[in-house]
Amino acid sequence: MNDALAAVGYAIAEGRLHFRTRIALEAHQDRLAHGHLRWVAAHSPAVAARFRAAGLGLSQWRSLPPTSKAEMMADFDRLNTAGLHLSDVLALARSAEDQRDFSGQLRGAAQSAFAEQAVTVGLSSGTSGTQGAFVVGVQERQRWAGVVLRHLLPPPFFRSLLRPVRVAFLLRAEGGLYRSVQSRRISFTFLDLLRPVPELAAALTAADPTLLVGPPSVLRALLDAGAEAKPARVVCVAEVMEEADRAALNAGFGPVVQVYQATEGLLALPCPHGSLHLNEAHVHFDLEALGDGRWRPIITDLRRWVQPMIRHRLDDILQLDATPCSCGSVARRVARIEGRQDDALLFAAASGQPLTMWPDFLRAALNRVPGLQEYRAEQTASDTLWLLLDPDLPSTRTAAAAEVKAALARAGADAGGVRLCFGPLLPAPPGTKRRRVLRRTFSQSSPVPEVIP
Ligand SMILES: [Zn+2]
Repeated sequence: MNDALAAVGYAIAEGRLHFRTRIALEAHQDRLAHGHLRWVAAHSPAVAARFRAAGLGLSQWRSLPPTSKAEMMADFDRLNTAGLHLSDVLALARSAEDQRDFSGQLRGAAQSAFAEQAVTVGLSSGTSGTQGAFVVGVQERQRWAGVVLRHLLPPPFFRSLLRPVRVAFLLRAEGGLYRSVQSRRISFTFLDLLRPVPELAAALTAADPTLLVGPPSVLRALLDAGAEAKPARVVCVAEVMEEADRAALNAGFGPVVQVYQATEGLLALPCPHGSLHLNEAHVHFDLEALGDGRWRPIITDLRRWVQPMIRHRLDDILQLDATPCSCGSVARRVARIEGRQDDALLFAAASGQPLTMWPDFLRAALNRVPGLQEYRAEQTASDTLWLLLDPDLPSTRTAAAAEVKAALARAGADAGGVRLCFGPLLPAPPGTKRRRVLRRTFSQSSPVPEVIP
């Protein structure tokens, strides 16, 4: 079937997946899980081995020990059900990124469940640690496009479809995923993040999108560079969105919504009432309590067949909003996505015990520094915190030091024992995710930034 038609079919079906009771939502998930796990265990040797190792039956899947991105990549060849080899996937994905041509696809191996079927390949943006590869089949891609269209086009959905839909994507790598929907009425334009900003800004203005999708830092840079667009929706992806970005984009381009999408899947979508809901109609979320109202998700994607995600632990930290949404959906609401697990900093408490400081606290402290436009805080040792500032002036250094010391003390850390180092914030390499708070692995060999006089 034509890709665009199939996607619209999925978008229409999505309208029926609006659950008003948790019981109905969980019954729907159980139904999907029952069939999905049986199929996956029969076709993915890696998943079957995990159940065997844990001594669990398929019906006990919620007790399965979680797996990580590193483990997923290590066992990629036995995990995917299309008979793909990681080396081939990486070779194609990397050459696509080098050539800026994302039309290449792999074919499922002859003996696999996806024999001779096209499989789209991509890489996660790999901010740190393990770079993830993802592979999706034709049907998964069409469903992705349908779900996205349903949730992102301004309601009412059918009226939105009557007008031409022009989607502009500003992404580091298109991964072929987004080109799947291409027809007279629906067009997707991919704007390559590795192009210079003024050129991108001009391309964005020319594309005149009705839906504008990209990381908030990039959208913000293009707005500042003079890009003009009046999309019905600005969709922020791939980064934690700060309030200042939301306000600027809202004023410059139009109404802003956030989508929580990762290599691991489409994890949360906005509703017409302005909430970000977990995508629970398709993904089952188990949540590990981290304390202080923070949770780490373990996902089981009930729609991923080529690259199964079963009890897969994410690096992100979520804060949830427990109050019901006025849209009537019972899918849980995300109040904040806090970036990656390693963004939490580790200091010693005044008592000497280890103390976790959430990135939120540090961002709040630095947001209070007058005249500070951008910053990065990097913890390089248990007692050393680098503050890279823009602009890096005596006044911003003094104010940042005072705010950060106060925040450390409030969090219960031994603020006097933390050494603050300063330097100018240099522009991030194009196409990399912006991270404002990060912690480098502490070891003798870990790179320490040069001391800037
Ligand atoms: Zn809602």
